[in-house]
Amino acid sequence: MAPQNRLQELRKQIDPINLQILELLNKRATIAREIGEVQQELGTTYYDPEREAQMLTELQQVNEGPFSNDTIKKLFSEIFHATLNLHEQDARQKILVQRKDPNQHTHIEFDNGLTIGNDTFEIIAGPCAVESYEQMDEVAAALSERGVKMIRGMGYKPRTSPYDFQGLGEEGLKIARQVANKYDMVVISEVLDQSLIPMMDEYVDAFWVGARNMQNAFLLRALGKQRKPVLLKRGFGATLKEFIYAAEYIMSSGNDQIILMERGIRTFVQETRNTLDISAVPLLKQETHLPIIVDISHSAGRRDIANPLGRVARVSGADGLMVEVHPNPDVAMSDAKQQLNLNQFNELMDDIDSISVRYKAPTV
Ligand code: PEP
Ligand code: MN
Repeated sequence: MAPQNRLQELRKQIDPINLQILELLNKRATIAREIGEVQQELGTTYYDPEREAQMLTELQQVNEGPFSNDTIKKLFSEIFHATLNLHEQDARQKILVQRKDPNQHTHIEFDNGLTIGNDTFEIIAGPCAVESYEQMDEVAAALSERGVKMIRGMGYKPRTSPYDFQGLGEEGLKIARQVANKYDMVVISEVLDQSLIPMMDEYVDAFWVGARNMQNAFLLRALGKQRKPVLLKRGFGATLKEFIYAAEYIMSSGNDQIILMERGIRTFVQETRNTLDISAVPLLKQETHLPIIVDISHSAGRRDIANPLGRVARVSGADGLMVEVHPNPDVAMSDAKQQLNLNQFNELMDDIDSISVRYKAPTV
């Protein structure tokens, strides 16, 4: 046979072999997927290095060439790696807070007309802690004047030192409820422990999980079992993956009304209390279908850069920002350095309102 014809003949033999290999690879992947499901039932992990090593040894023992054992090892290692990726892809699809398509957006509606996560930029504001009726009333009047519909009504404060002001407790919640009713606002308040949920439920419209409690699985599960929306703050040392899984605890327990809040992470930067991780906004938008709010107070820990951070939040694609506002920050019982007074709050609102274009984070 002429070499040219022989080449063609041999190539004809290769083509169907490629198809056979393709079919076998996918057949193998389908079975591996089933193995993954069984492993999940058994509570074991997908990745089993011993099993991989055993398969490679067996393949090398029966290998007759012409491929060397080294090449066989490389080829099959690649197949094992692809299978592991498939398992990870399957696992991600099962995560409830994970965005499944670009148009999937969770939005949260409240009785007073406030909607978070519906293409608007909402402001959550109020003092760090409820201190008195007068303090709350003065702040609420100023906030509602600027259209703010959700007020911080913090009765319990997670303080670094047990000797610092811990909040007014239930008394603070009563004040917050009273004031919120007067100005047609909704109250959100931090829940420090699951035992407080039934009592707090009498006063609040939404529960708030602080950074220190982001990974408190018992609290998250308990909040997943009640019906009110939950705002979940990112822990100051938490990766985005950990943050997403914390939200998953709430959603997988039955509550899909979740708002995420980026509040800054700990870095080597000394000038701010934390470092605002603004890239978390577009990344969380890509990964999840949940609304995201930017905390411009605890991230910086100082009021002099509140306005630029507010503008950054506005254009980041976030669904809103959170800022602490106090009638007289210098005498505040907590977080005195970062709270805005009423004039500063109005300036912040003017600044944010002057930005007409809101960047919409791509979600694919
Ligand atoms: C808060 O926002 O009230 C608060 C205590 O912040 P963090 O949990 O982020 O420290
Ligand atoms: Mn505070």
